[in-house]
Amino acid sequence: MESTLTARDRVGVQDFVLLENYTSEAAFIENLRRRFGEKLIYTYIGSVLVSVNPYKDLEIYSKAHMERYRGVSFYEISPHIYAVSDNTYRAMRTERRDQCILISGESGAGKTEASKKILQYYATTCPVTDHMSTIRDRLLQSNPVLEAFGNAKTLRNDNSSRFGKYMDVQFDFRGAPIGGHILNYLLEKSRVVHQNHGERNFHIFYQLLEGGEQDQLSKLGLERNAQKYHYLVKGCCPRVSSINDKSDWKTVRKALTVIGFHEEEDLLNIIASVLHLGNTQFGEGEDGETQITTESHLTYLSKVRTSNMNSTSSHRLTHSLILHFKGRCPLSFEQAVAARDALAKAVYGRAFTWLVAKINQSLAFKDEVYNSSKGSSSVIGLLDIYGFEVFQHNSFEQFCINYCNEKLQQLFIKLTLKSEQEEYEAEGITWEPVKYFDNKIICDLVEEKHKGFISILDEECLRPGEPSDISFLEKLEDTLGGHAHFVTHKLANGKTRKAVGREEFRLIHYAGEVNYTVNGELANQSVNSRTAGSVICQSDNQILSQCFHREEVTTQKRPETAATQFKNSLAKLIEILMSKEPSYVRCIKPNDAKQSGRFDEALVRHQVKYLGLMENLRVRRAGFAYRRRYEAFLQRYKSLCPGTWPNWQGRLADGVATLVQHLGYKAEEYKLGKTKIFIRFPKTLFTTEDALEA
Ligand code: ATP
Ligand code: MG
Repeated sequence: MESTLTARDRVGVQDFVLLENYTSEAAFIENLRRRFGEKLIYTYIGSVLVSVNPYKDLEIYSKAHMERYRGVSFYEISPHIYAVSDNTYRAMRTERRDQCILISGESGAGKTEASKKILQYYATTCPVTDHMSTIRDRLLQSNPVLEAFGNAKTLRNDNSSRFGKYMDVQFDFRGAPIGGHILNYLLEKSRVVHQNHGERNFHIFYQLLEGGEQDQLSKLGLERNAQKYHYLVKGCCPRVSSINDKSDWKTVRKALTVIGFHEEEDLLNIIASVLHLGNTQFGEGEDGETQITTESHLTYLSKVRTSNMNSTSSHRLTHSLILHFKGRCPLSFEQAVAARDALAKAVYGRAFTWLVAKINQSLAFKDEVYNSSKGSSSVIGLLDIYGFEVFQHNSFEQFCINYCNEKLQQLFIKLTLKSEQEEYEAEGITWEPVKYFDNKIICDLVEEKHKGFISILDEECLRPGEPSDISFLEKLEDTLGGHAHFVTHKLANGKTRKAVGREEFRLIHYAGEVNYTVNGELANQSVNSRTAGSVICQSDNQILSQCFHREEVTTQKRPETAATQFKNSLAKLIEILMSKEPSYVRCIKPNDAKQSGRFDEALVRHQVKYLGLMENLRVRRAGFAYRRRYEAFLQRYKSLCPGTWPNWQGRLADGVATLVQHLGYKAEEYKLGKTKIFIRFPKTLFTTEDALEA
């Protein structure tokens, strides 16, 4: 195993703050590349862990590895996800402060794998008693269930999380896991009805069709053939070599049992309903009106324990799909298809939220089981959320994801600066202000009351009449036109900017520029599944009747727009994170081919930029590159000075002062705080290290 700084020539530096040329992006990437070449996928920026996806099983996650990291300080051992897990755990135990680990990176970079490794570390190394082992198992088993319903094969990742996830793990006073809670964000519901070429729908559909027993499928009116279902074949990719749907189905069933799940029949009915909805087709009747041409699927739908299975319910569902809610006028063919798809998305989306709530019930810390620890528990939160996204076409979903990243970046900068400043103060060292880009201006652009993007979107959605994308774009222009981070195709001199389309606007994010298309923006916002919701809320499928409330359908009040909902849930998330002490894991994908051993520099450079790593390093390096507690510093280097060898008897600070004077440190190279020595340049430290090796 690589030890502290000694192996630095062959494998670069294990902490970027020790890079001589720390402002150089090229030096940063070269350091990552060299380490990656030696299968050293982890590197620090101070206490931030940077991880490069190896795309192969490295043998570094065994129980023996976990043991090696237990109780060991960050700097004594090579960087690892277990070091972050362990340090976070110890900080929670000793400082009695809630912690959180924020994992970010683009799709396929390894966020979910990292969060699973952290959870496994706790499951393996924390103390447990018998009934706590149930909670531990449930915590672990919540993953396969959520992944089945919330993950899918995409072009970037065969197991891509299509939702954001924040999970609290609760520990008792002895440090044993006693409960958990999950918050989910923005499930990509559009995937239920449409997939891009080479991508799939959510895993669960294929798992059920491949793994479900024959009589189960017959009861659900399903055939064991994904090709038969419109919602499963849009991406022309029903099978994936890296995925075994049949065995995954078994894993999911087992996990559901561990979680203590009893509503399986209702859940399967919902999955089947979505497939039947997808196969419900429309045509034109003799009178030119839209009709449903595939009665059999609709018959099934009204049978799925939806209202008393009489012809009225079938009738009502039919009507809900082909008639307007209020006016009862017929829908056009396109409108009927949209209504069907909206219903499928709503049903799936709400079932997913319900599932999370169900898992939460099962993970809930129960007083009656374990009374004595009440009031003295602490929490470690794990955030596995989508990184910054830029595609050829960026829509409302990318907008939300990138807005989320702006908020997290702001939190990061604020907290990093704050903790740096606090440490300097605590050590009695003068704080030297750091210049950095404050992205608050972009967050305000999105969320400011009355004149921010989301306010304008809400206003446009809520005003009477049909909202239109073009009028929305015009309003954006009127209000945000002069903003330094907002651009449209119109130039001030009346000419047209070619780089931005007529249905687009561009935001200049902290991580780069992104063009967003407003096409369909507003349709996404309006909740047009209300009609069918009125049928569904009467369903005697327990899950559905809990997901769709009658009041919601009958009320005249317009529901909150998706953008406002997202903004509010994000504000709550930030509040949760602010109340905890954060650690960071930044994941990087080394190539687009999911191949091991390949390091595509251009791709990595992009991510270094999007993750704000150079900014991170600059803030961390602004004052002193290296800091170490006196005892650790003395222990390591005392042999270099006759005055401190073999043991220094006086005050630690005096010992360190004697040592560095003997080594010839110049006044501008270091400062002595209350408990730590601060060294400004890596070179000073390396010279000392070399003396040790000589
Ligand atoms: P998304 O945003 O799409 O959910 P992600 O960042 O969560 O992406 P993961 O699903 O964690 O990405 O990782 C993608 C794949 O990369 C994994 O399925 C696995 O094959 C591989 N991988 C990730 N991390 C590691 C690791 N530490 N060791 C080995 N393989 C890994
Ligand atoms: Mg993931």
